[in-house]
Amino acid sequence: EGGGGGAESYLFKVVIIGDSAVGKSNLLSRYSRDEFNPNSRATIGVEFQTQTLTIDGKEVKAQIWDTAGQERFRAVTSAYYRGAVGALLVYDITRSATFQSIDRWLQELNTHSDTSVARILVGNKCDLGEIRAVSVEDGKNLAESEGLFFMETSALDSTNVKTAFEIVIKEIYNHVS
Ligand code: GDP
Ligand code: MG
Repeated sequence: EGGGGGAESYLFKVVIIGDSAVGKSNLLSRYSRDEFNPNSRATIGVEFQTQTLTIDGKEVKAQIWDTAGQERFRAVTSAYYRGAVGALLVYDITRSATFQSIDRWLQELNTHSDTSVARILVGNKCDLGEIRAVSVEDGKNLAESEGLFFMETSALDSTNVKTAFEIVIKEIYNHVS
């Protein structure tokens, strides 16, 4: 339809990476459909979801990719990263090993994409604060030293989920606009 002559629109690819079971698929289903699946297997097979936002009166479509379980085999393919301009690096605040893996995910991201990719470090499952294994301070410090945004989220109770995705999408938009 002809309305808004000259209106620009944008399509950004964003990838979600991190160890198995940190909540990547649930973060995406919470953000795109406001759904949570207690059974992780239920979400396997989703390739990407497209979310439309309006920023500065412009239509911005974020095509957000989920690994669909590939990370279990340590074989997230280069096709997954191709063309990505944003990334969420997710760990589980109740499992230190998933936080320690962030270095490896950052290296993999750096191998497959250029350094201008907008990145946020996401400590998920903050609803489980009573069994926390990674402090907020540790998350903040890592993010600061690697130049990442940082947010703790809960896909279960929705805390900061929208904010985390939109920080990345707005940062990408600021780069290109
Ligand atoms: P993925 O392998 O990283 O995609 O992780 P999933 O999204 O499949 O989640 C793995 C498990 O963690 C599932 O049992 C989810 O229900 C659970 N889970 C995901 N996000 C949260 C969260 O924010 N809080 C809690 N308590 N559980 C979560
Ligand atoms: Mg998954």
